[in-house]
Amino acid sequence: MPSRAVETSSGNPPWYVMDENGQIMPLEVPTRLKEHPELVRRGLEPVDPSKIGVVYRTFVLKKPLYYIKIVDTSTEEAAVYQRLRLQCMASPNHTIPGEITPPEAGHPLLITPELGDFGLSIMRASSLYDSLARFLQLIEGLEYMHNQHIAHMDICLDNVVAAPLWKDPPYPDVEPGKMYYIDFGSSLQLPFGPGVQRAISLGPSQYALQYDIHNFDPYSWDVYCAALTLRATLDAYRRDHWCFITRLYLGWLEGNERGCAGVCRCRPTARRARQLLAGILWCVGIWEGTKNVLRRAMDGIWSPFS
Ligand SMILES: [Zn+2]
Repeated sequence: MPSRAVETSSGNPPWYVMDENGQIMPLEVPTRLKEHPELVRRGLEPVDPSKIGVVYRTFVLKKPLYYIKIVDTSTEEAAVYQRLRLQCMASPNHTIPGEITPPEAGHPLLITPELGDFGLSIMRASSLYDSLARFLQLIEGLEYMHNQHIAHMDICLDNVVAAPLWKDPPYPDVEPGKMYYIDFGSSLQLPFGPGVQRAISLGPSQYALQYDIHNFDPYSWDVYCAALTLRATLDAYRRDHWCFITRLYLGWLEGNERGCAGVCRCRPTARRARQLLAGILWCVGIWEGTKNVLRRAMDGIWSPFS
């Protein structure tokens, strides 16, 4: 069946492929994307739509796999991503390593590696300490972004990923076992840092606002969404890791919003959240280590009688 790619006047996504009746063909990849000079040069073939008209994945049998996102040039995504990517990629920077295609190659695309699911990495955590250590990475990455006066603005379970524990990572700059933020399509570069920046009008995000408030301190919004993400992760993947520590910490992180028009004081900054979580992690490490030593000692006492 003949098809034609619809080209919007601005060239921004979504790029849909439509049939002759004007119906979207969701599984078709736009010719404009398939023939993008940079993808052709790199031998990358977008095949599977991950978000129709916006994000595509390369062919599953051709490793390593990449996601290709058609960048919306009306957003700050390219600028934010390039700023974070140009800095040292070691922690505390938790920006997914990838590349924005050069402007001379046509419409900008963001090419990033396919990493693992954050929720599954929590599911595989060997202990509460292990789970909290992964949470700490996300809070650390958030603090790093905020220190650059960047707010992610759409933190959710879909927008955090975990690198598998590869012995030999197939992607440059990716550290095995590291947590990364993806999708900077809603991100903002702000004039002021945390504690100074006043509330702004919120754009769309994956988490609906539970308050009847539409202006929010953007840094505090990120912390709030991070808390909801961590809560959703435990609910979905590790209910056994709900304990008084995680309840107290996530309750503190979520806060009780009072509708601050200026700087939000209803929840901690990412820096304070990271500092407290690092302290909690240290205590949990001591507790779990002591428990393991005692268990082994008890096993040693009882084994001669067994
Ligand atoms: Zn507030």
